[in-house]
Amino acid sequence: MTPKDLCDSAPKGWNFILELPKRQDFEAITEKAWNVTLPEGLDFEGQHFSLPDGLSVNAEARWVEDSLLSVGISLSSRVVGECARCLSQAELAISDDLMYLYFSRGLDFEDTELGSDDGFMPVEVDFLGRTLSIAEQVWESLIVLLPARMLCRPDCAGLCPNCGEDLNKGVCSCAPIGDPRLSVLRELLE
Ligand SMILES: [Zn+2]
Ligand SMILES: [Zn+2]
Repeated sequence: MTPKDLCDSAPKGWNFILELPKRQDFEAITEKAWNVTLPEGLDFEGQHFSLPDGLSVNAEARWVEDSLLSVGISLSSRVVGECARCLSQAELAISDDLMYLYFSRGLDFEDTELGSDDGFMPVEVDFLGRTLSIAEQVWESLIVLLPARMLCRPDCAGLCPNCGEDLNKGVCSCAPIGDPRLSVLRELLE
């Protein structure tokens, strides 16, 4: 799977370094948690999002095979943006758990126990050493969680296209645009 075409890569200075378990120790799991702030928020597909509580990330790594490492990444955040209909402030809690499989270049991934249809997202890296940077995958996971458009509530009534009044606060005084089918009906009734 390819997440929505990513416009950008992880912000510079993003530092998510995970220590890896000892090679050949298939029982060991290493884990790390972060809470990062994004003071500028982020822009994606024409929307601006701010993350007032930052972004919480948890990752755990385990060797599956010699050159195959599974990394579970959980993230959660609260994003705030503008409602696409009424322009007031809208917010949304996002969270997800994703599984990535890192393998060193040259490994024939198809020959491993885990095919790509197991819900794992394969990531080819040059080299798997003692530590691994997962910044790009954290960024990718965050981007796919952003809504295509923010709404203050699912049934937001939006603004009147004529006078711009917020229709969530009441009906404006503009004449409702009549349905032509109704006027035919009205004529029949008269
Ligand atoms: Zn709204
Ligand atoms: Zn109006």
